[in-house]
Amino acid sequence: MITIGVLALQGDFEAHRNILEAQGVRVIKVRDAQSLQECDGLIIPGGESTVMSQLCERYGLWEPLQARLAAGMAAFGTCAGMILLAKGISGASRNFEQQTLGALDIDVARNAYGAQVDSFEADIEVPPVEAGESAEPLRAVFIRAPQIVRCGEAIEVLARHGDQPVVVRQGKLMASSFHPEISGDARLHQLWLKGVEKESGSEIG
Ligand code: GLN
Repeated sequence: MITIGVLALQGDFEAHRNILEAQGVRVIKVRDAQSLQECDGLIIPGGESTVMSQLCERYGLWEPLQARLAAGMAAFGTCAGMILLAKGISGASRNFEQQTLGALDIDVARNAYGAQVDSFEADIEVPPVEAGESAEPLRAVFIRAPQIVRCGEAIEVLARHGDQPVVVRQGKLMASSFHPEISGDARLHQLWLKGVEKESGSEIG
């Protein structure tokens, strides 16, 4: 059985945990370097990217995280989690000295859809988890969401909102601008887990 960690320093990690547990994987909360070492893959939830990166530093997680990602650990970042995984944060939206893990070859602009009051929901077309399955649109919740402003060559765009890429994948790394866990729709988690399972060679459940 594969073990999936949910970075549980700040943000809405419980909703991710609930979705993952329903998929039959072992789920652990990651708050230190030791628990990170047990994970086959890691969810980095939404929240506040500046706070999350500061807490990672404080709990001695930043360098181990970078090292595991560089060694090919799977990760799925949602909203603030996407910001943390990105290569870069576009100038004006970057907080002073804000760093990223740099694993996913995208650049993002923070808060590009506006402030909290501009939060919105939209129906997004997503690829089916299994080929041939019908794909109902997924209800996506955007809360002070980042926009992807650059995609590197290795990036596969899995979903868009208008012209804007909102779900991207690069091998075992996936990220969404919005919160897929809030609506309780498990499909993006399932899509990511399928890739993790394929590459790790172990079975889910
Ligand atoms: N605006 C937040 C940030 O920059 C992300 C918001 C979210 O995760 N819902 O970190």
